[in-house]
Amino acid sequence: MSYAPALHAPPAPAPASPLLSAAAPLLAEPAGTPPALSFELFPPKSEAQDAAFWACVGRLERLAPRFFSVTYGAGGSTQARTHAAVERIARETSVPAAAHLTCVGATREEVDAVARRYWTAGIRHVVALRGDMPGGGAYQPHPGGYPYAADLVAGLRRIGDFEISVAAYPETHPAARSAEADLDNLKRKLDAGATRAITQYFFEAATFLRFLDRARAAGITAPIVPGILPITNFTQAAKFSAACGASVPDWLGRLFEGLDDDPDTRRMVAAVVAAEQVRVLQASGIGEFHFYTLNRPELVCGIAQVLGVRPAELAVRPG
Ligand SMILES: Cc1cc2nc3c(=O)[nH]c(=O)nc-3n(C[C@H](O)[C@H](O)[C@H](O)COP(=O)(O)OP(=O)(O)OC[C@H]3O[C@@H](n4cnc5c(N)ncnc54)[C@H](O)[C@@H]3O)c2cc1C
Repeated sequence: MSYAPALHAPPAPAPASPLLSAAAPLLAEPAGTPPALSFELFPPKSEAQDAAFWACVGRLERLAPRFFSVTYGAGGSTQARTHAAVERIARETSVPAAAHLTCVGATREEVDAVARRYWTAGIRHVVALRGDMPGGGAYQPHPGGYPYAADLVAGLRRIGDFEISVAAYPETHPAARSAEADLDNLKRKLDAGATRAITQYFFEAATFLRFLDRARAAGITAPIVPGILPITNFTQAAKFSAACGASVPDWLGRLFEGLDDDPDTRRMVAAVVAAEQVRVLQASGIGEFHFYTLNRPELVCGIAQVLGVRPAELAVRPG
């Protein structure tokens, strides 16, 4: 009997481990297929914010996102700033820019004029939304305006061949009659010409996956991209979530316990929570994510690094 190992003997099979096979998707190297990312920004309000905004755009641009989207303040309050930011992103970066546009407080003609300006400036992607009333009261369509997002989508289609994203709500929009009515509304927006949906943020991966199942069962085939909000300020996020219908699990509160005066640790917790949420969704086959960046590049860069998305050297642009 020889104790010398056979030269090409196959390795002994590893003992079966149910625990390991359950964990395999989470332990896998993220390098396989890094997810596609897009980033939401809000337009700067002051000169100080302006510098921070463009520094943020510069850092996030290196992650080669699919697009940057720029929000539109309640009642169109940021119209000029949104416009300026979107146009400059399109002009000065290598990343396509998407402009958020809402129905609130404007006639159809006024909204159409904004959309035409985008089209003329070469902006080809609009995130079409109903919006909320500036004071936070019950929604009232503007007389002569687009009443709902589906109507706005149809209007945009008449103006140009935009790529159009719309909002979707894994936990149902707070004003919807029912979850079914809200899903019908999403279908109407897609049937009117929207090309993809981006979801309201949520904290439990299962919430998104259940919603996606319901949407597919209802015949919705368009991409539904999960919206990810890395939170660093739990108290503020809980308040905001109550208003927009996103539930906040107890475990999330516990993770931030005792950290009120410790912003550094809160940022690290935020990055871990968001990266884990994305990786659980990736393990279920989701490959694209939209980050609500709150104009905080360091958090998003850290999360992207964990997800296997690496900054690229930017090509030098002519001129
Ligand atoms: C990805 C994303 C980005 C966002 N960006 C912005 C932004 O930049 N600026 C901003 O102000 N807000 C923004 N919001 C918030 C959004 O404007 C609010 O959530 C708003 O309350 C609903 O907008 P919507 O486009 O989903 O509306 P809609 O799709 O029109 O639906 C709104 C509600 O009305 C119901 N509904 C729809 N049609 C009808 C009908 N014909 N009759 C009766 N009920 C109807 C729906 O079921 C739903 O409850 C964003 C939200 C998301 C998820």
